[in-house]
Order: sequence, then C-alpha cells, then structure tokens
Amino acid sequence: MNEMLQQTPYWWEEAEPQPSLSELPMEPCDVLIIGGGYTGLSAALTLSKAGLKVVVLDAELPGYGASSRNGGMIGNLLKPGLSGLIEMFGLEKAIAIYEEALASVQFIQDRIAEEAIDCDLNINGRFYPAVLDKHLTAMTREFEARQTHLQVPEEMVDATGGKEDVDSSIYVGGLRQFHTGGLHPAKYAKGLAAAVERAGGSIIAPLKAEEIQKEVDGYRVRTVKGDIRCRQLVIATNGYSSDLFPFVQKRVIPIGSTIIATAELSENLVASLFPTKRMITDTRKMLSYYRPSPDGRRVLLGGRPTVFQASPADQARALGKRLTEIFPQLKTAELSHVWSGKVAYSFNFLPTIGSHDGIYYAMGYCGSGVAMSGYMGHKIALKLLGDPAGETAFDDLPFEDRFYYNGKPWFLPAAMIGYRIRDAFGF
Ligand SMILES: Cc1cc2nc3c(=O)[nH]c(=O)nc-3n(C[C@H](O)[C@H](O)[C@H](O)COP(=O)(O)OP(=O)(O)OC[C@H]3O[C@@H](n4cnc5c(N)ncnc54)[C@H](O)[C@@H]3O)c2cc1C
Repeated sequence: MNEMLQQTPYWWEEAEPQPSLSELPMEPCDVLIIGGGYTGLSAALTLSKAGLKVVVLDAELPGYGASSRNGGMIGNLLKPGLSGLIEMFGLEKAIAIYEEALASVQFIQDRIAEEAIDCDLNINGRFYPAVLDKHLTAMTREFEARQTHLQVPEEMVDATGGKEDVDSSIYVGGLRQFHTGGLHPAKYAKGLAAAVERAGGSIIAPLKAEEIQKEVDGYRVRTVKGDIRCRQLVIATNGYSSDLFPFVQKRVIPIGSTIIATAELSENLVASLFPTKRMITDTRKMLSYYRPSPDGRRVLLGGRPTVFQASPADQARALGKRLTEIFPQLKTAELSHVWSGKVAYSFNFLPTIGSHDGIYYAMGYCGSGVAMSGYMGHKIALKLLGDPAGETAFDDLPFEDRFYYNGKPWFLPAAMIGYRIRDAFGF
C-alpha cells in the first residue's frame, strides 16, 4: 500500500474549502448562523433570498466539516426504516416522516438546478447489496412496506441481478433504487456558499463562535474578532457541536467516518466494477459505502474501519482490506487519499429540528444528511420567516438526552465491538 497517502479529502483536489473574510457586522444582523455546512448554508440562502441580513460563521472554513468530506450519496435513508417508524409513531405519522425524506431528495435537485451549482449531480440511483440471506429477507419486508404505503421507485434483485450494479461475488442480492444518486460533495458545498454570497448573505470563516449571551432583543455571540449581535440565532454544528450550546451537545453523538480513494485506475476497470455507476451501501452493521469518482477513474470506499482511534495509515489499511474483499480485482490498486469526518447521531436515530430558549437548530442526520441537511436548513429559514411551509413532520419528534451522556461518546467502542460480532457471526 502507498505510504504517501494524502490525508485531505479527495474532493478537495477540485474544490478545497476557502476562507471567506466578510467584515463583522457593526449593527445587529437579522439572523446569525453558526456552522457553515449544508444545513447552515441552506438556511442562509433561503433567508438571504427573502431579504434578511444574514451572517454565517464557521470555526474552520465554509463546508469544512462533513459537508466537504462525505461520500456524496444522495438518499432518503432513515435508520429506523418505515416499519420502525410505524412502531414508534403509528402509520400516518410514519408516512408523513418518510414522505419528507423523499421530498429532501427532490429538494436538493431543485436547489442545485435553481442555483446552477456545478457539482457532478447524477440521479442514477443507489444499490443496497445484501451480505446475508437474512439481510435480504429483512430488506424485502421493508421494501414491501414502502411499496404498500409510499410507492418508492425501487426493486428487489437477486445475486445475478445485483451484478448489473456491482461486479462483486460477495452479495446475495439487494435493493435497487432509481430516484437517488450522487454528487461531488465539496463542489456542492462551494456552490451553496457562492449562492449565499450572491444573494447578499455574509460568510465569515474561519471564525469560531465562542459564547452565546441572551439579550433583551436577541443574542450576542462572542468571537476573537469581537461580538456579533443578532435578532435570531441558528445552530448548525451537527457532528462538530461543542459546549457552545450544551442543549444540543447532550443530544447528538459525534461518530467518525473515514473514506479512502484509490489512485487513478483505468476507466474500463472502474466501469466494469460499477456498470451502472450507482452509489452502493451494503447491509453490514459496520457498513461500507462505496462509489466510482465522478470522473470514473477511482473507487472511493467509506466506513468505520477501526473500533479504537487509529492512525490514518491504519484506517486506510483496514478499509483497503474491505475494498479488496468486495473487489479482488483491486488487489494491486494503490490508495491515494484517506480522510475522516464526523457524522451526528441522535438517540432515536432520526434527524432533529426545533428551537430551545429561542435558538433554532437542525442536525442529527445519522450519516445520511447530504439531501436532508439542506432541506432542514431551508425549513428552519421558513420557520424564522414565519412561513407555514416551515412546518415539518419532524417538528414534534422527541430530541432525547440520556443521563449517562454529556457529549463524550465513551460507549462507542463497546457498541462497535457488538456490531462487529454481529457482522462476523451473522446475527
Ligand atoms: C465521511 C463522511 C461520509 C458521509 N457520507 C454521506 C453520504 O454519502 N450521504 C449522506 O447523505 N450523508 C453522508 N454523510 C453525512 C453528511 O455529510 C452530513 O449529514 C452533512 O454534511 C451535515 O451537514 P451540516 O451542515 O449539518 O454539518 P457539517 O457539514 O458537519 O457542518 C458543521 C460545521 O459547524 C462548524 N462549527 C462547529 N462549531 C462551531 C463554532 N463554535 N463556531 C463556528 N462554527 C462551528 C464546523 O466547523 C463545521 O464546518 C457523511 C459524513 C461523513 C463525515
């Protein structure tokens, strides 16, 4: 394996996040948004277009968090599945929640089209290959529930059918989706940031929000460059949340996810591995997600490679092993990049949106936020604008905390070991 691995996202080769040095506003702004990923930028875009004076802060760079590091897979995945949602909330509410996840997939396409964002968008679907027969059975049950209640454009395929999407012999079949797809995540983040600025919004990054103080007519946020005053405040820090706003820190669990990219391969080889160029997510508990790069010259694979913290080289080695288990054809392929980012889970495995003490937030996309985060950011903006279209089926869902959790996920290694055992022994 290549020891000269780049430890920045492959995506940054073409779209590295850049500083954005707008002036600190002297007067109070209408809305200050903390966090310049898809959620914050999307909220800022809707608000700026409505004529409000909006400032976005990012402690690092616009899009520096998960939004320029992810797999670029657009989907409507909700971890509990439709059956889980029915159990949790009843049929009517479950359908309403799922319909919004589907709406987020349309929303991201509309936004990219409206803002003419050049981000290699390709709505050619996703394939979920099943590793075990029991996964396929569970998947079929879920598929049937969705067909009955939602008519999602999907189909089940057997092992031979699955090879149309992924040339691997380790799967027993799977679910093929037609309405989802992929994009270049860092180009999308950059395009959103540019759209915010075009619409009159200000982005200041790097600049960290250090402290929030409530005032009579809004909030004062302390930064090293001075205070910023605003009438309304939005927290969009997802997996990068800190004690800046303890209410969310105690309710979201940051989890690392790592991706490797191969060095350039022959286009024919990549096309033979992914004949339809669909995005792929397998069914393991410690799942792998993988895809061809938009130019069809590399393979990217992500997952959580190690239980405990490990060096980038060790993480790359572990993910490289997974890659060659799936594709022995890549035995001699070199890796060029390895990088990590943080996703945010909630305790009920669902995205969350709401307000606490008058401060708005949206986060907790549980690793499936490319479409949902922009949609939720837009919904927050509509809420701040007093537009009834800001209502969502997620509004009244619980955003739970746990007495044993204060923002440090000490229990993750134990959970990961449990998942690995289940994957290894198939239960
Ligand atoms: C490796 C990886 C792969 C993924 N793959 C996929 C995928 O293929 N498909 C999918 O749907 N989802 C995927 N996701 C999830 C998806 O990327 C996220 O759900 C989405 O990007 C969340 O956007 P966000 O704006 O809410 O958060 P982020 O993009 O993480 O932005 C939060 C921002 O807040 C900033 N911040 C934090 N604290 C402060 C502060 N005090 N002051 C100022 N700024 C602050 C951070 O610097 C950061 O930039 C993946 C995530 C990762 C990490």
